[in-house]
Amino acid sequence: MLDLKSGYPWWAVRNGLTHDFPPLRADAVADVAIIGGGITAALIADELVEHGHSVVVIEQRDIGWGSTAASTALLQYEIDTHMTELAQRYGEDDAWLAYGACARSLELLKGVADGLGETDFAWQDSLYYASRPRDRASLQAEFELRLRHDLEVEWLEPDALLIRYGIRAPAAILSHQAARVDPYRMANLLFARLQARGMAIHDRTRIEKIETGTHGVLLHTDTGHAISASRLVMAAGYANETWLDKRVARNRSSYAFISDTLTDDQLGPLRNTLIWESARPYLYARSTGDGRILVGGEDDSIDIPARRDARVLRKAEILRKKFGKVLGEIPLEPAFSWAGTFAETADGLPFFGVHPQHGDRVLFAMAYGGNGITYSMLGAGLIRSLIEAQPHPLQALFSFDRLDRM
Ligand SMILES: Cc1cc2nc3c(=O)[nH]c(=O)nc-3n(C[C@H](O)[C@H](O)[C@H](O)COP(=O)(O)OP(=O)(O)OC[C@H]3O[C@@H](n4cnc5c(N)ncnc54)[C@H](O)[C@@H]3O)c2cc1C
Repeated sequence: MLDLKSGYPWWAVRNGLTHDFPPLRADAVADVAIIGGGITAALIADELVEHGHSVVVIEQRDIGWGSTAASTALLQYEIDTHMTELAQRYGEDDAWLAYGACARSLELLKGVADGLGETDFAWQDSLYYASRPRDRASLQAEFELRLRHDLEVEWLEPDALLIRYGIRAPAAILSHQAARVDPYRMANLLFARLQARGMAIHDRTRIEKIETGTHGVLLHTDTGHAISASRLVMAAGYANETWLDKRVARNRSSYAFISDTLTDDQLGPLRNTLIWESARPYLYARSTGDGRILVGGEDDSIDIPARRDARVLRKAEILRKKFGKVLGEIPLEPAFSWAGTFAETADGLPFFGVHPQHGDRVLFAMAYGGNGITYSMLGAGLIRSLIEAQPHPLQALFSFDRLDRM
């Protein structure tokens, strides 16, 4: 089993095991089987059940204990690849298709969160500052392209940046469309609601073998049971890649820490603003509803859990120092620190859909990239369209066919 996080991720510590989802103890049948019990599976299952499909969800750990529990959950339409860069790769229409969809995804996430109770969802601004003078020109081009597509953005010169945010940087794009959430809680509440409505969810059950046929799929669990379904959705996070002969993304480790609770005054602009920067890997920070600050970044290519574990405290200290250089007035000590696996595709876009290796009964849901949760939300609608054989605007752009153009 791929270990997706090190240390205790804040969300799991804060919320604990909120609901009971028993292991699978008998064979099962459903229209759609979903492997994975993270935020991607939760959103897809919700969308499918809402539209009348019977669904069974299988998770090998406890629900939400994959990368969902480690996620810092900044919700942004602005993905790690600039819109200008996507336009160069695929043309402006496709670049806008991705960015526009991600902006709409925030509204969809808000809609889901509203129906769940306390998920700590809150609208935020997002401040993207130039880390170095030489990044200013590319940020300006990015700003102009976004403005042309009516995204709600402001350009901040150094003076305004200093006065409004206390940040010294060559320039920044301020976006008024962003949000934050507790992703673990959201996934757990979604699954609890689905379970209450009769959907079968089993955690601590691992899928060990997948058999595909012309009429459906047969899954075999480590508990000795079989699940038959017409379709299979692979929402297994970064473990999805273990079912493919050829990799489609590279795994990275990302590090984060959370502070103790601060006062509104101490939080200052971070009360309602997410911040990140143009350097790669980038430093980022956000607040939580209970007044803490979450700082993340320092991504590296370590993919071995024990080596990643050994780095958590040192990385937290580096993050604290880097944060201090940007927003030094905010007093910050790491209360919890952790690391998690996260995957990057070459163009920053996710993969949703069938893969030639598994035929058309198996749909992959790979919400990869720094904006995975925004993608998961879009993937829910896209996966349903594929199952119902309906067209979807993102079908081609988010498909594995893109690999030929990368
Ligand atoms: C440190 C960090 C910070 C991040 N920050 C952000 C952010 O700010 N904004 C954002 O949008 N995204 C962020 N992400 C990315 C986001 O967290 C992920 O995109 C998201 O959590 C992926 O959810 P998932 O459900 O696809 O995967 P997971 O949560 O990993 O769920 C997949 C599940 O599948 C299960 N599974 C795998 N194989 C099997 C099997 N054979 N049988 C049964 N179960 C199986 C796993 O146990 C796992 O629980 C971050 C990620 C990390 C690690």
